Amino acid sequence: MTRIGFYPGTFDPIHNGHTDIIGRAVKFLDKLVLGIAINTGKGPMFSLDERVAIAEEAVQPLRAKAEIVIHPYEGLTMHVAREVGAQVIVRGLRAVADFEFEFQMTAMNQQLDREIETVFLMADPRHQALNSRLIKEIAQLGGDVSKFVSDGVKSRLLAKVGRQ
Ligand code: ADP
Repeated sequence: MTRIGFYPGTFDPIHNGHTDIIGRAVKFLDKLVLGIAINTGKGPMFSLDERVAIAEEAVQPLRAKAEIVIHPYEGLTMHVAREVGAQVIVRGLRAVADFEFEFQMTAMNQQLDREIETVFLMADPRHQALNSRLIKEIAQLGGDVSKFVSDGVKSRLLAKVGRQ
């Protein structure tokens, strides 16, 4: 059996916390489908095409370990997970603040599809606090984001906020 995971998110843009989670997930998966939400209520800074291109670049070094597919999606996560043949949904847990939301979401998702399990992974402590919204704010205000994103993402971020 090919072990397939679906990791959904906004990835606006993908950062080192996300790639840390991907690196952990590919230790026990043969294939990881990174689901990039097409419609997001978060008002993304990067267009869908940009988020896909940035993610493609950022996951490249991890492709030696497993197949990684970038998959823009809309609709219910559970439906898309099934469409792509995933047995598990991968989520990252940061602070306690994530727990309440993830707890409710997983409980609902279990009702929608009893065969697909959600697994939670924690990033390395250096990356646990990272969040795309704060990284964008720091870049906009001229702060150094080198520790939070790959070099490729950093260049795109600086170009986007007009600081390069
Ligand atoms: P963000 O909340 O940064 O906008 P996403 O919506 O793209 O990120 O999140 C996609 C998934 O990645 C979620 O499961 C989220 O909890 C997880 N994630 C985001 N940042 C981190 C991090 N620093 N460490 C672990 N997991 C994370």
